[in-house]
Amino acid sequence: MKIAGSTSLEDLPRICPLLSREGNQRYGATETRVVEVGSVHFGGGRPVVIAGPCAVESREQTLAVAEAVRAAGADMLRGGAYKPRTSPHDFQGLGDEGLEILCLAREATGLPIVTEVMDVRLVDKVAEYADMLQVGSRNMQNYPLLKEVGRVGKPVLLKRGMAASLCEWLGAAEYIAAEGNYDIVLCERGIKAYPSGEYSRYILDLNVIPAVKLHTFLPIIVDPSHATGVASMVEPASRAAIEFGSEGLIIEVAADSPGQAKPRCDAAQAIDPKTLQRIVNFIITRAGVLLENALAQAFSAQRNGSARHTITSEVV
Ligand code: PEP
Ligand code: MN
Repeated sequence: MKIAGSTSLEDLPRICPLLSREGNQRYGATETRVVEVGSVHFGGGRPVVIAGPCAVESREQTLAVAEAVRAAGADMLRGGAYKPRTSPHDFQGLGDEGLEILCLAREATGLPIVTEVMDVRLVDKVAEYADMLQVGSRNMQNYPLLKEVGRVGKPVLLKRGMAASLCEWLGAAEYIAAEGNYDIVLCERGIKAYPSGEYSRYILDLNVIPAVKLHTFLPIIVDPSHATGVASMVEPASRAAIEFGSEGLIIEVAADSPGQAKPRCDAAQAIDPKTLQRIVNFIITRAGVLLENALAQAFSAQRNGSARHTITSEVV
């Protein structure tokens, strides 16, 4: 018996006629949509690394982290100007001033910026500043917000709700696409499941990466920082995500310059720039190996092809 209102993957062609592979015939079985943010390409070539502070806290802190992540080889800068906090009494981000600081950091480093928009009234404003709009886990099913970010037409990083099924997540992405904006990158950021909260903040659902590839052509990246909540777990989680086919990572970093204050937000999961550098090196090395393998395969296919051709001509 099917419970009214429940969804399963069989419902995808109806829920997501634009984005599901089942509903949309424009994309082949293996083709991923390439989402471009300036010169950064999600879903084409080597995985993208987005890195930066959890929150924009000050000009000095943001510029220091931005410079450190650029030097470590990151492709884009992250940082929250408006922060979704569990308590209204906690630091809520610098707001508009945070957007100005992010722009300074972009000017200083050349890195495109992604930042979260939480308020439907601020979508136009954040879109003026950011290169990519982030919709956070807590807002994945904020349908008016999804429609607005679809309408402004900037690339969107759509985080998975922390208890969202794949159907619900793709349904949320469909709201953005229905406004004519297909430049959507999905982001797995850990889900609530037993025993989340015991030794890690959430459970990193690696299985969803190949599942996403099976059911949609949108690229998917992973946030190992929020998924684990523990700095020492971020590097192994990053490697695993890449091995599972993630098209990128979004990572929280704190600069380790002397006198730098502890981050006011998510300090326990912030890695240092050296660890980020190792993760970037892992990606570059692995991408090189994959390219070598692909070239070797193409070369041997060509040789076999010509060998077959020779055999055929002999027979003829
Ligand atoms: C963030 O990336 O800053 C964030 C708050 O993440 P999430 O929405 O996944 O909790
Ligand atoms: Mn954070």
